[in-house]
Amino acid sequence: MRITGIKAHHFSVPMPPGRVGGVGRLFKRDWIAVEVSTDAGLVGWGESHHGQAPAAIANLVDHVLGPQLVGLPPHPAECWLRIQERYFRTHSPGAAAVMAYSGIDIALWDIAGQAAGVPVCVLFGYAPKRVRAYVGGHNLTYQPVDDLVAEARRWREAGFRGMKIRIGRGPAVDAEAVRAVREAVGPDVEVFADVNARYRLADALALLERIGSGTLGWLEEPLAVEERAAYRRLRSRTSQVLAGGENAYSLRELEDTVAWADIIQPDVTKIGGLTPFRDVVAVARLWGVRVVPHAMHSVIAQAATLHALAGLGADTWLEHDPGVDPLLWQAEGPGLVIRDGWAEIPDRPGLGVRPRLAGLEGYPGTPGPSYGPTPLAGADEDPGR
Ligand SMILES: [Mg+2]
Repeated sequence: MRITGIKAHHFSVPMPPGRVGGVGRLFKRDWIAVEVSTDAGLVGWGESHHGQAPAAIANLVDHVLGPQLVGLPPHPAECWLRIQERYFRTHSPGAAAVMAYSGIDIALWDIAGQAAGVPVCVLFGYAPKRVRAYVGGHNLTYQPVDDLVAEARRWREAGFRGMKIRIGRGPAVDAEAVRAVREAVGPDVEVFADVNARYRLADALALLERIGSGTLGWLEEPLAVEERAAYRRLRSRTSQVLAGGENAYSLRELEDTVAWADIIQPDVTKIGGLTPFRDVVAVARLWGVRVVPHAMHSVIAQAATLHALAGLGADTWLEHDPGVDPLLWQAEGPGLVIRDGWAEIPDRPGLGVRPRLAGLEGYPGTPGPSYGPTPLAGADEDPGR
């Protein structure tokens, strides 16, 4: 079997006006689905994170990385080594190329599973099973506290036992939001908070002084990823469980995260796909950290993440966005099952889902970023981002 074509399908679905997510105002939802075809008739699907330059990511798939693999057998790890030798070795990987390659790698694993007639997780040596799902993505964001509490209660009613709120409006406002949600959802629900690097070190310490170190299941990305010294100072001054790593694009960058984080959060659509993710799972055992992946929203990214989760222990979670646009969630044939706070790893060959592109024709990809910085309403101080 040989690879005959690699193509990125980029769509930009508009968001309702006024939506604000962890990284600012949401203009649209970009989606880069990667299709790999073979001369055996098997077709695999993957997803590349769109970053802040989705058209560039799609271009890297179509014109830089993809053409180097056409004509080769679709073995995922062999292809990874080829790209490593031909491209990454001389030019260093870089975030955009690694995000782009992630979609190709995931599609190759989809093909490998289909060819073997088994789910991707079985190729890795693990069994399909169900895993806990928490509410992440563009939910529980920068609303008035009453709205936030009402939304948190709705997710609890829907069966979720983990949920993540977005903070970064400043320690006083954030502490109030954390306390209100924590109190509203009850002791059997874990509450996490994601700062998306909106804090300075002093803000993070001030928040923890207000809420204590045991209130949150984890505090995610309080500082900018390159503020390594500040992260080490934060680590030395709190026992709060800290999480990060969704913006690491290699094992080496994740190693920097391990210097301060208890939980690492590699994303299969950003770290280079499932091939490097397998290495992360192995090394994380040596590092002694939990792995709870960051996960984007489409049916492909969620399916790939689920197969990756099969190799992790009971202390991991699927990050799930129940508010995702239905167009990105639709499948040809059976879709993913996420119910009562649990997600099932598909037990069908390959990823076990095929995306349905019908209805997306009207939303061709646009080149600009999906989101942009914006002042946060209700902030008690300028978070400086
Ligand atoms: Mg995050």
